[in-house]
Amino acid sequence: MRVFFVIMIVLSSGVAGCFGSDELFDEKRGIPGGLALACLQDDKFEKMKIHFLYEKGYDPIAMDLVKTRLQQVCDKPDGIQIVANEIDFSEDTSWSSDDVRDARWKHGEDAMGSDTLHWYFLFPKGTHNDESVLGVAVDASTVAVFKDTIADSVNFLGRPSADEIERAVTVHEAGHLLGLVNLVYQSPIDHEDSEHPGHSNNEDSVMYWAIESSSIGNIFSGSIPDEFDADDKSDLAGMASGELKCSDQLWS
Ligand SMILES: [Zn+2]
Repeated sequence: MRVFFVIMIVLSSGVAGCFGSDELFDEKRGIPGGLALACLQDDKFEKMKIHFLYEKGYDPIAMDLVKTRLQQVCDKPDGIQIVANEIDFSEDTSWSSDDVRDARWKHGEDAMGSDTLHWYFLFPKGTHNDESVLGVAVDASTVAVFKDTIADSVNFLGRPSADEIERAVTVHEAGHLLGLVNLVYQSPIDHEDSEHPGHSNNEDSVMYWAIESSSIGNIFSGSIPDEFDADDKSDLAGMASGELKCSDQLWS
């Protein structure tokens, strides 16, 4: 009974925002960054498939961009392929991070199939139950992007536009799956925002915290980054080469 009580407390005190909270209980699914080396290196996975699961009318617009960004940093000699599927999630309109995780494992397959690495990007109808969240990374191979919340976060100038925000958010969440910033390693460069752990302190990086926040329309009044900055890329190169030690990896 006591164990149950403790678990209930841990679950209900879940971290809002960016990261899923119950990785303790889903070890195999890992934490965001847990399949970073699986992407950055080719030791085990020579191919990669990026699955986009989207509700009808919620077509992702940044599929090619995510592929390009991953190709720029990951080692996949047999290529990276986009797989897009329309899904009826049959969910409520308010999503917890657990709901996202459940939907991905219900409609998707394992992350580590033979020599192919599978990552899943969900585009559901509705919002995260923390309505300031535009996107969320919930385990080592799963993210969600909330287009309804993105549409609402556009400022009255329409700059950045919903399309620009969606592109940035989608790449931002891919960055979390790559372990940025300091999720599964410690950068020798001081570029993590101490007030927003797991994010860059550079507003020219796609890993800047406000990218996935509904306050984005107040913070940016023009173009927003959809690329990793030099420090992010330096971290990824260090992880790929083995120079930076990585923790919490699901394989190796
Ligand atoms: Zn983030």
